[in-house]
Amino acid sequence: MKTIKDMNLENKKVLIRCDFNVPMKEGKIVDDTRITAALPTIKYCLDHNAKVILFSHLGRVKEADDLEKNNLEPVAKRLEKLLKKKVTFISKTRGEELENAINNMKDKDILLVQNTRYEDLDGKKESKNDPELGKYWASLGDVFVNDAFGTIHRAHASNVGIASNLDSCIGFLIEKELNALKELDNPQHPFVVVLGGAKVADKIGVIENLVKKADKILIGGGMAFTFLKAEGYEIGNSLLDEENIEFCKNIMKDYDGKIVLPVDVAVTTEYSEKEEYKTKDITDIEYNEMGLDIGPKTVEVFENYLKDSKIAVWNGPLGVYEFEKYKKGTNDLLQYVVDNNIKIILGGGDIVAAASTSGYKDKVYHASTGGGATLEYLEGKTLPGLEEIK
Ligand code: AMP
Repeated sequence: MKTIKDMNLENKKVLIRCDFNVPMKEGKIVDDTRITAALPTIKYCLDHNAKVILFSHLGRVKEADDLEKNNLEPVAKRLEKLLKKKVTFISKTRGEELENAINNMKDKDILLVQNTRYEDLDGKKESKNDPELGKYWASLGDVFVNDAFGTIHRAHASNVGIASNLDSCIGFLIEKELNALKELDNPQHPFVVVLGGAKVADKIGVIENLVKKADKILIGGGMAFTFLKAEGYEIGNSLLDEENIEFCKNIMKDYDGKIVLPVDVAVTTEYSEKEEYKTKDITDIEYNEMGLDIGPKTVEVFENYLKDSKIAVWNGPLGVYEFEKYKKGTNDLLQYVVDNNIKIILGGGDIVAAASTSGYKDKVYHASTGGGATLEYLEGKTLPGLEEIK
């Protein structure tokens, strides 16, 4: 697959699909990690005298009311600050103003196009990869660089559409993400998988794909309770994915000893932070209690498996980390991983958000910028955003 270093960028109009889908609150950027993650590719293009034209989506645009709150202009301002350079923002996704601005660009100029999903208002043209739209955007440049890892599992006009009409490659961010994930294709052993989060249903594909390769799968979070139920434990009011009890039973039978479940949990009687919690062995959960975090004995069990691992991957928090009280299991294990230099890949989404708020994100081996994309990679699926480039 071609990377940015294989391309001639000199004096070219280079279209870059970035992932600037940053969290926003009242028009302000809450976390600019995704913007800073795009800088190496942008800077490389500037250093090679390119005219840099940036595309990204932001949020979802279903109705006219969604337009203003998903306006990409604040990203242009933040980019200006980070690059210490003017960034021209065009508030439209097509038309004369955009075309003229691009035609007037000089080498090393940067332009950001409005949120690609503004095109979704008219028949989901971006999200359904409308062929005319991809062709039109491709006509604005000479070279295309896909660097939006977060949308690589989707075929949209701004990635697959442009790539099918233009000489294309991947940028540094996608390259870095893929290099980390590739280490899991034929992993060194022991290979340990940590899974948490809410529903078993969302992780079935990952479990089915990784159970063959992994030495152990350590399960925490809400999804652990469906496995515990399948083993015959009383789980009270804990999260249950009734439809997948059979799946849990079968996978534990087929891969005897591979799946490791919690031995103790933090239980309470209400899904909130108000009530006190008790730490109990999983044999002692009562009918009116719910487990909202793994307990300290479980953290120790998980640590012991991770201690010997050569590589590990972790997807999903081990408790309701949004509540201060129930982020302890997730944080304690993150702390252990960092203190002991465990080679671990955090698979995007909630686990990276948890690691970010507690300051561990930049200390782990790799923290992915794309939850959905990583999950689909771990399921063994092909990623449409790469297919055209391949
Ligand atoms: P996911 O998107 O599947 O990774 O799920 C993340 C969500 O799982 C977070 O919002 C957590 O609050 C939730 N979660 C983790 N542990 C539990 C638990 N024991 N009970 C209920 N929800 C949980």
